[in-house]
Amino acid sequence: MKISRFLFALGLSLIISAGGHAFSKTEETYENAHNCYVDLKADPEARKLRQSWEKCIDLFERVARQDRRIESGADAKFSLGKLYEELAENSKNQSDWLKAAKEYESFARQYSRNSKADDAYFGAGKIYWLRLNDKANSKRCFSRVVKFYKKGDKAAEANKYLAALETGILPKDADAVSQAGSIQEAVTIVIDPGHGGKDAGAIGPKGTEEKDVTLSLSKKLAEQIKNDIKGAKVFLTRGNDATLTLDDRVKFANKKRADLFISIHANAAVSKKQRGVQTYFLNNASDDAARRLAAQENRNSGRKASDLEKIISTMIQNASTEESRILAKSVHHRLVKDLSGKYSGVADQKVRSAMFYVLVGVKCPSILVETSYVSNPKEEARLNNKDYQATIAKAVAKGLDEHLKSKKSLAINL
Ligand SMILES: [Zn+2]
Repeated sequence: MKISRFLFALGLSLIISAGGHAFSKTEETYENAHNCYVDLKADPEARKLRQSWEKCIDLFERVARQDRRIESGADAKFSLGKLYEELAENSKNQSDWLKAAKEYESFARQYSRNSKADDAYFGAGKIYWLRLNDKANSKRCFSRVVKFYKKGDKAAEANKYLAALETGILPKDADAVSQAGSIQEAVTIVIDPGHGGKDAGAIGPKGTEEKDVTLSLSKKLAEQIKNDIKGAKVFLTRGNDATLTLDDRVKFANKKRADLFISIHANAAVSKKQRGVQTYFLNNASDDAARRLAAQENRNSGRKASDLEKIISTMIQNASTEESRILAKSVHHRLVKDLSGKYSGVADQKVRSAMFYVLVGVKCPSILVETSYVSNPKEEARLNNKDYQATIAKAVAKGLDEHLKSKKSLAINL
């Protein structure tokens, strides 16, 4: 062991003296670790196996051990906390949660001046309390954030958690911590009326164009949300018969820093008998969406995103997938229930996951609602009816509201 360390140290000094190629060996390992993670994210079957996670963890551990002084060492170390956390989400295993907390702490101790050190202590504090019910260690971590990172973006939140630890009641706005770590004051909802302009979407037997129905529904929905959800900011990707690319819609949502994104459509099928409500969420696990997202970011930014940025971006996307699924269920359930209460023969076409390009790249929970079938004569007539439209708008707004409320009471997102 000692000899190999000595040889390693010798090798390192030789590499350093070689100048430009310094650390090339370890950078390559970091690339491997990162690729291992990206592959894992793209493979739902592999994610169910502990050994797949352990393989990636092992690679990150190797980088973390070797590159203590350079950036990828810190990146790898922080990533280990994230990886254990994701593994724990899958395994529901207490010892994985404990490892996640320990890795975060270990990162923060080792890289105490790194800009992510306070995030790591904060993350560990939440895991200790919310996942392991270990208040003493939780308190210790939150106290460190407050004491040593006073000016950091986590200090105020850590203070709230410290106070909450005393009372045993979770902070009211614990859920308002976005995945990027900042506090959101009000929820921002972006509604996307499907199609528009040159793209009419589906066309019904009587000539109803999907693009008109989606615009009218979306406008009603926007009003309903403003009415029902206190302080909500609502934006439409289009307010008239404009032609928008999918990319325009995604960019708009991200620019508005949307917390929730909902794309409104009307379905069509070859059979005129096909009817009902269907809600989709993006499943990037069924595709290599994560990889594409990373590639897209590289193209758009004009510079190579750091590996950590790529990983974090992948994680944000993944976290949104889970919330998107929950959001889809909440909206769908409400929509089917409320429509069925007023109209006959409303079919529940279930919540499904699919690769919708409009949802890829939207950095928040996103769903797509196929409100009814414009290809079905009865539903086409209903879609043109003001009361039917109002019922849909009310139900969707209620589903959104219910989702936001249940999220608030859980408050377990890191
Ligand atoms: Zn459509």
